[in-house]
Amino acid sequence: MKLLRRILDALRPKAAGPPPAAWADLLAARTTFFARLPDPQREELLRLAQRFIATKRFWGNGIAVTEEMKVVVAGTACLLLLGLPQHGLFPRNPDVIIHARDFGQVVQAVGPDGQRYEIRESNLGQAIYRGPIRLAWSTIDAPPAHRRGRNLILHEYAHALDFLNGLIDGTPPLETRQRAAEWARVFSGELQRLRAAADAGQPTLLDPYGATNPAELFAVATECFFEQPVELRRRHAELYAQLATFYGQDPASTAERPV
Ligand SMILES: [Zn+2]
Repeated sequence: MKLLRRILDALRPKAAGPPPAAWADLLAARTTFFARLPDPQREELLRLAQRFIATKRFWGNGIAVTEEMKVVVAGTACLLLLGLPQHGLFPRNPDVIIHARDFGQVVQAVGPDGQRYEIRESNLGQAIYRGPIRLAWSTIDAPPAHRRGRNLILHEYAHALDFLNGLIDGTPPLETRQRAAEWARVFSGELQRLRAAADAGQPTLLDPYGATNPAELFAVATECFFEQPVELRRRHAELYAQLATFYGQDPASTAERPV
């Protein structure tokens, strides 16, 4: 009986204690933003990451999922939520699939010549409406200098926020019609300018992939907002202001704060 009780005690879920101290060091080393967050936000981010890890299912494809991977994914995704307590923890996306590297599928298609072809799709990340978030670890694991202000995790979880109002249109839930109208005005102007620059082959601060459609523009603008906030505020002030109001955060001010 004693042995059985001990086994049952061991199996009972433990009350969640504080997040392990090593997580803060890991996020400080692996992200550009963590070290610059004010202390209360750092603590809140660690608590959110802990809840994220406890409630999401992590899957590995060609790679074993480690605690380090979970902490980096959770700590980055939850950065988006620091000023959005009303939206929960990405409720439409309970699963995270971590792929070793880029992934895809082979699609059978009939070409203009009537012949059958196999087209191989390749993705670094993917957010599925009411489905998993897929991430290529080889991209996340690249040194910051190689990422050039891009952040795959922020990108895919920005899509997850976009999903919350039921439309994948680059507009997350906004409180009022006036806010939505302002958002539409600013983002459609930015989309036109990014398309024109991409067509002309001009370098842009925003990833030209954002010119694909409004949903991608919101995702790449979110990456830039958190990874290169001072530059974004300087060069795209209205876009920065829209994102700052939506996210309830002002990362350009904290980025200029001495660490
Ligand atoms: Zn995307």
